[in-house]
Amino acid sequence: MGRRAHIITFGCQMNGRDSETMAGALEEAGHGIVAREEEADLLVVNSCSVRDGAETRALGRLRQLVGRRRSNRHLRVGVAGCMAQRLGEELFSLVPGLNFVLGTGQFARIAEVVGRLDAGEERIALLGLETAPCHRRPMGHGRPSASVTISTGCPMACSYCIVPRTRGTGTFRPMADIVREVELLAEGGTREVVLLGQIVNFYGQRHLPSVAGKSPFVQLLERINAVAGIERIRFLSPHPCGFREDLIRCFSDLPKLCHWVHLPLQSGSDRILRAMRRGYGRERALSLLLSLRRAFPEMSLSTDLIVGFPGEDDRDFQMTEELFSAVDFDMAYIFRYSPRTGTPAADRTDQVPDAVAAERQQILLRRLAETSLRRNRLFLHRTLPVFVEGFLEKNPNICLGHGFQGKKVFFPGSVRLLGRTVPVRVEEIGVSSLRGVAVENI
Ligand code: SF4
Repeated sequence: MGRRAHIITFGCQMNGRDSETMAGALEEAGHGIVAREEEADLLVVNSCSVRDGAETRALGRLRQLVGRRRSNRHLRVGVAGCMAQRLGEELFSLVPGLNFVLGTGQFARIAEVVGRLDAGEERIALLGLETAPCHRRPMGHGRPSASVTISTGCPMACSYCIVPRTRGTGTFRPMADIVREVELLAEGGTREVVLLGQIVNFYGQRHLPSVAGKSPFVQLLERINAVAGIERIRFLSPHPCGFREDLIRCFSDLPKLCHWVHLPLQSGSDRILRAMRRGYGRERALSLLLSLRRAFPEMSLSTDLIVGFPGEDDRDFQMTEELFSAVDFDMAYIFRYSPRTGTPAADRTDQVPDAVAAERQQILLRRLAETSLRRNRLFLHRTLPVFVEGFLEKNPNICLGHGFQGKKVFFPGSVRLLGRTVPVRVEEIGVSSLRGVAVENI
C-alpha cells in the first residue's frame, strides 16, 4: 500500500516547482499526497539555504517532525532541496532520526527512496547535482497557470550567494522537451506558463547557437508563443547581463508575453556591485531599465535589492536610492544583507551594523510605497484584461488575477472564471494591488 505524503516547502518559486516534481513522482509510484501533515506517514521538508536563518528554521521544523515518530513508528521524515545539498549526510547528526536527504538534482528519485525505506533501510542520502530525468506528466496539468523549469543552477558567482554550490553551475533542458511540456499543459487546460530558471535569459548560452541575432532564450519564447491554447507567458528571473535588444523586442513582437519584468539589481553603487561580483555596473542596469520604461511605459518593473552589504557606506546607499527613484519601480523586494555561511561576503570584516541596514531598508520601503501607488494610479478607472488564477482563501467569491502588466487585481466573481481572462474595471488602488468589478456579464 502506498504512503500518504505531505511536503513542506520553504523558499523560492523554484522550490515550489521542485515540490511539485516530488509530489508527481510519488503519485506516479502509487503514493498519495495529503494536505494535512497530521494525516501523513511520509513528511518531506523542501529546504532553502538563501540565509542562515532559513536553514535554522528548516532544522527546527525537521527536529519537530522527527519527534512525531514517538507516537507514529511508521512515520518517515526526509529533507530535500538546497540545505540538503549543502549539508548532505551531516544532516543525519544535526537531526537524529532523519531518514533521508535528497539533493537538488535528485527530486525525481523520491519514489525510489521511499521504496528503499519501505524495504528496511533507515538512512539514505542521494546528493548528485546531475538532474535526474524529469517526471513525465507536466506538474501544473489542469491548472490555469503553471510553472515550467527551463534551467537549473547558476553560472555566476555572486559573493553573497550559495546557489551555485547548492544547485550547480547551470544546466538547461532541451528546447523540444520544454515546448512539448507546454503543449501538454495547454491540452490539459493551462492558459498561462511561467518559465523558471535561476537566470532565464542565460538559457542555452554557450551551447545553443543564436539564430538571426536571437539568443536561445528568445528562440524558446518564440516557440512557446506559437503554442495553441497558451494565452500568457511570463519568466522569472532574468539577469541584467545578457538582457539585450532581441529580448526587449520580444515584448512588442510576441503578443502573449506579459509586460512584466522582475530584474534583480541588488545595488545601485558600482563599488558594491563589484564587491557583490554581479558582473554589471550601475549604468548598464539603469539604461536597460530606462529603455524598457521608454518603450513600454505601462510595463511592470520590479527588483530585488540588498541594503547593508559589507562595506556599503552612505554614498553607496545614496546611489542605490537615486537609481531606485530614477526607475520608479512598481514593486521591489528589499532585503537587509544577512551573512550566508560559506560565501566570501560572510567573511568580510566590514559588516554594516544591523541598525544602519534597517534604517536604509525603511527609507527604500517608504519610497516604494509612494512609487507603487503612483504606478497603480495609471490603471485607475480603466478596464484591464485580468487572467483569473485563484480566489481569496477567506472568500471564494473574490477572484484573484493579474493584468497583462503584472498588476494584482481582486474583483467579485465565481469559480467558473478560473483560467479565463475577464475585463475588469479598476475602481480602487492600493500599494500592492487593484480592486475592481467585471464589466461583462459573468
Ligand atoms: S546570479 Fe548571483 S545571486 Fe543569482 S543565483 Fe546566481 S550567484 Fe546567486
